[in-house]
Amino acid sequence: MIPLLDLQTQYQSIEAEILEEIKDVLRSGQYILGPYVAKLEHQIAEKVGVTHAVGVASGTDALTLALIAYNIGPKDEVITTPFTFIATAEAISRVGATPVFVDVDPTTGLIDAKKIADKITAKTKAIIPVQLFGQSADMDTINQIAKAHQLVVIEDACQAFGATYNHKPVGSLGDAGCFSFFPTKNLGALGDGGVVTTNNKAIADRIKQLRVHGSHKKYYHHEIGLNSRLDAMQAAILLVCLEHIDHWNAQRRNKAKRYKQHLEGINQITCLTEAKDNRHVYHLFCLKSSNRGLIMQALRDHDIASAIYYPLCLHLQEAYQFLNYKLGDFPNAEQLSETIFSIPLHPFLSNEQQIEVINVIKEVTQL
Ligand SMILES: *Cc1c(COP(=O)(O)O)cnc(C)c1O
Repeated sequence: MIPLLDLQTQYQSIEAEILEEIKDVLRSGQYILGPYVAKLEHQIAEKVGVTHAVGVASGTDALTLALIAYNIGPKDEVITTPFTFIATAEAISRVGATPVFVDVDPTTGLIDAKKIADKITAKTKAIIPVQLFGQSADMDTINQIAKAHQLVVIEDACQAFGATYNHKPVGSLGDAGCFSFFPTKNLGALGDGGVVTTNNKAIADRIKQLRVHGSHKKYYHHEIGLNSRLDAMQAAILLVCLEHIDHWNAQRRNKAKRYKQHLEGINQITCLTEAKDNRHVYHLFCLKSSNRGLIMQALRDHDIASAIYYPLCLHLQEAYQFLNYKLGDFPNAEQLSETIFSIPLHPFLSNEQQIEVINVIKEVTQL
C-alpha cells in the first residue's frame, strides 16, 4: 500500500528524540502550558519572523481566538474562500459573524484577490485568506485592499508552515497568522494543537488571556474566555519536529517537482500551479482531471491511496444552507471540487513508490 501520508515512518525517524523529551515532560509534573509551551512559542515566533506566538488547543481555536481578539462578532462580515476546510468558515460563524465567500483562482485553488473588493460592505471587518495546500495567497493585493478599507487580515496558514511569499514566511503576512498542529499537517503534533502568530503585543496578550478563561491572574477573570491551551507534551514533540521541518518541507518540494516533471503535459491531467513569488510546501499535491474517477480507481487497483480535498464547497454544505448561496455562485471553486484529487506526497515517499504512482497514472490516461 502506498499511503497519501505516512505518519508512522515519520514518527519512527524521530522516535528516540521524542521519547527523551516526553520523559522530561512526564517527570516535570507540569502538563499544560508551562516552560515547554513557552519555548515552543519563542521558537515558532522566531521561525515565522514575528514578535509573538501563542499556543492554543487547535487550528480552529487559533482562528476563533484571533477573531475574538480583534473584536469580530455578531453583525460583522468576514471575507474568505468557499474552497477550504470548514474550520475557516466555522470559526467565523462561531464568533457570530457571517462568512462572505469569494471565488478562487482555478489554477491554484487560492482565493482570487481581484474579486475581494466587490464583496466589501459597511459590515466587512476582516479577510481570512487560506494558504491552501501549502502556498500563500496573493497577500500584496489582499493587504492593499485591507488597508484601503481598514480590514483585519488573518491568515489561515494551517496547511502551510514554512511556506514563503516574496521570501517572507506565511504567518507573518497579515495582522495575525493561524497554524494547526493536527498530526497530518506539515508541522504536526501527536494530538491536537495550534498557534497564533502576530506582531501585535496587545492581540497576543489578549489571546493569552482568552485561552485560560479570560483570566490574567488565577481566579480573576477579566473577560469571558475559553479553555484552549496547548499541552506540554505536544509542545515537546513539536520542538523536536521543528528541528526537522525545513528538511521535511524540502523533501516535499523535491517530490512535487518530480511529479510535475512526469505528469505535466499528460493528456487529461493538469497539476495545480505554484504561484509566482511563492515557496510552496506541498501539504498536498493536487491534480485536476475530468476523468478523476477513473484515475483514482486505477490507483486504488494498484493499492495506491488518493483523496479529494474538497469534494463539496462550503457554500453548498448543509451547514451553510442558511446563507442562501446556490450552485453556480462560485464556478471556479465548484469546478475544482468536481475535478481535483491528491496523490501520495510526504517527506518519506520513496523514489520507487513515486515512480509507481506516476506509471499508474500514465498508463490509465493513455487508455
Ligand atoms: C486543519 C485546518 C484547520 C483546522 O485546524 P485544526 O487543528 O484541525 O482545528 C483550519 N483551516 C485549514 C485550512 C485547515 O487545513
